[in-house]
Amino acid sequence: MQKIIPIHSVDAVAASDKIHARSIDGIFSRWRWIMVWLTQAFFYGVPWLNWSSRQAVLFDLEAKRFYLFGAVLFPQDLIYLASLLVVSALLLFFATAVVGRVWCGFACPQTVYTAIFMWVENKCEGSHQNRKRLDKTRWTAEKLLRRGGKNLAWVVFGLWTGFTFVGYFTAMRPLMADALSMTVSPWTTFWILFYGLFTYLNAGLLREKVCLHMCPYGRFQGSLMDAHTLNVAYDHRRGEPRRGTVENDRRLAKEGHHQCTSS
Ligand code: SF4
Repeated sequence: MQKIIPIHSVDAVAASDKIHARSIDGIFSRWRWIMVWLTQAFFYGVPWLNWSSRQAVLFDLEAKRFYLFGAVLFPQDLIYLASLLVVSALLLFFATAVVGRVWCGFACPQTVYTAIFMWVENKCEGSHQNRKRLDKTRWTAEKLLRRGGKNLAWVVFGLWTGFTFVGYFTAMRPLMADALSMTVSPWTTFWILFYGLFTYLNAGLLREKVCLHMCPYGRFQGSLMDAHTLNVAYDHRRGEPRRGTVENDRRLAKEGHHQCTSS
């Protein structure tokens, strides 16, 4: 009797395999890097900006005040934040319906930090083939140096990210002074370490598993798209039967289809 393998078992096996992505170059990859630079310049730079002798953007939870450049918001103004979130969600849904996973591909923090961590990995351990080889070799001084260097760089980057994130809630310049004199309060230290670890785990170790198993937006994207949505996906009509895209393109052209139709 034939054994039936449930689909979720196959997924579970595939999800446990370590993926070593090959570095690629091209117009979309370059746009992704432009977005990495823009978003990170914004994220790491904004807490250092001053406005009228105070931090320009500060969410002071203790004083229950949000400073946004010239504006000061109080808890009763949360309606503005709620409205902003609703408008952002609707814009995201609209963009997904028209141009697919554009947020995922270019601006989601998970994508941006994974790209940075993979760049570090590439510098420390070499190409995807070298990394695969390194996985299989026993622990030597070289492996220890490469793996250790990569993890050290990831930890430093994660801690700096955690520190910056906390700088949106605790005034950044006094926080830096406390850090330099090693007098950061225990709770602030906890949050820096927490967000540092969060960045390290998500961008260094979990990567696409966050999209597969943790992200709610990833789960319902399918219901926001239709056949006209721009999407990077396997074109069944163009790819099957497996005999080369040129022949299949000719066949599709004869049948009156556009070459790159989505299935
Ligand atoms: S699926 Fe979620 S976590 Fe993954 S890239 Fe898209 S928005 Fe980000």
